[in-house]
Amino acid sequence: MLKVYNTLSRKKEQFKEISDGEVSMYSCGPTVYNYAHIGNLRTYVFMDLLRRVLAYDGYKINGVMNITDVGHLTNDADDGEDKMDKTAKATGKTPREIAEYYTDVFMSDLAKINIATPEIVAKATEHIDDMINYVVRLVEEGYAYEISDGIYFDISKFPKYGQLSRLNLDEQIAGARVVVNTEKRNPQDFAVWKKADPSHIQQWESPWGMGYPGWHIECSAMSQKYLGDQFDIHTGGVDHIPVHHENELAQNEALTKGKCVDYWMHGEFMLVDNGKMSKSLGNTYTISQLEGMGYSPLVFRYFCLNAHYRKKLNFTFEGLDAAKVSYERLCALISAQSRGLALVSRETLASYKTEFDNAVKDDVNIPMALGVLWKMVKEPLCSDVYRLALEMDKIFGLSLDNVEEYLDSIREEVPQNIASLADARIQAKAEKNWAEADRIRGEIVALGYNVLDKKDGYDIKKI
Ligand code: AMP
Ligand code: ZN
Repeated sequence: MLKVYNTLSRKKEQFKEISDGEVSMYSCGPTVYNYAHIGNLRTYVFMDLLRRVLAYDGYKINGVMNITDVGHLTNDADDGEDKMDKTAKATGKTPREIAEYYTDVFMSDLAKINIATPEIVAKATEHIDDMINYVVRLVEEGYAYEISDGIYFDISKFPKYGQLSRLNLDEQIAGARVVVNTEKRNPQDFAVWKKADPSHIQQWESPWGMGYPGWHIECSAMSQKYLGDQFDIHTGGVDHIPVHHENELAQNEALTKGKCVDYWMHGEFMLVDNGKMSKSLGNTYTISQLEGMGYSPLVFRYFCLNAHYRKKLNFTFEGLDAAKVSYERLCALISAQSRGLALVSRETLASYKTEFDNAVKDDVNIPMALGVLWKMVKEPLCSDVYRLALEMDKIFGLSLDNVEEYLDSIREEVPQNIASLADARIQAKAEKNWAEADRIRGEIVALGYNVLDKKDGYDIKKI
């Protein structure tokens, strides 16, 4: 029985799908005007883990992720600059060139950290007509109205406004996300369509003249188009709860009159040195930067798996180093298990499997599941342990079926003279000249290396 925490009810609930054996899931994707940082990527690791747990539980997943390549303002209050527009003007590139470049990098980052791309990836710019139709319907039904700079959603027409964030309207105003616009009917009314001035680069024809969509309408229009009026799961980072998802929910339910999403699920933030991650502080790392510093993207994934998705995760290089050491140890143990000939009883293995299943089905408790894996790999070396570890890795996504590749990649370059000595030692052993083999070992150690015998040769490590 799978349980998930639903932000809407603030409770762990038993998961029940709408359509038997299938899960429809929408995930807010990136705004592609810049590189995704490791905080953004944590949210997609969460999306991926959830998808893997659902697949492990036997569900067929119909997942949609959007790519925001238009109209995400620098300020949620509808008065900031358009991020794509701003970057285009600053770089002299077209918004399309910018979006394509950063989308490609994002997709390759996902692949590097073993995040499978959702079944449908929907670009906002390819769905402008759907968005315009959506706004037309909102206007027709009286939920949206036109003022001089755009079309706005009238929150007073949707009495349940605020149900997701549980903020009352005064608190939202106090949150300073809402600017006063004298033409708006209510201070919290938000733009569903903005009229564009001629200098704005991305703009489309609409019943209200040239303009561009509001950010929230993108996700409403695309989720409804691909998943229908009601779908199972919607994911995103916690920052989306009070504005983006609250507004998305209002738009959807205004039109459908019913529930639009059964389970709203949000990933907590990644912090850096216990503080906010931000460009101005120079602490937003990308996967490529970490790679450049010698950290495999899978080490980053392993780092993320150590915290439950609803807990803040503090990024430090000490933490990442610890993850690197643990991941290497795990790979070495998995490698040893794969060649193991010992016996571990069926009951023991079954109890690990049960413990693992219970953890992942309890609101995707990956840290607990990882604890089970660690306990298991310390059993006597046994290929059945290895097989069960690979089964578990369907969720962890740590490439445990390919640990040799990782171990090879981190093996140090051994200086030629040390390698020659080690070869000479193997030769001496083959000739059963134990005294000579020991003498050479002593020489190797004196030069600062350790030689460890393996079934198929030797391993050399710096002391
Ligand atoms: P954006 O491209 O700004 O729309 O962000 C993409 C995703 O990353 C969204 O789901 C955000 O909620 C999420 N996000 C942004 N900053 C962080 C962070 N520091 N930690 C975790 N997730 C984040
Ligand atoms: Zn969204």
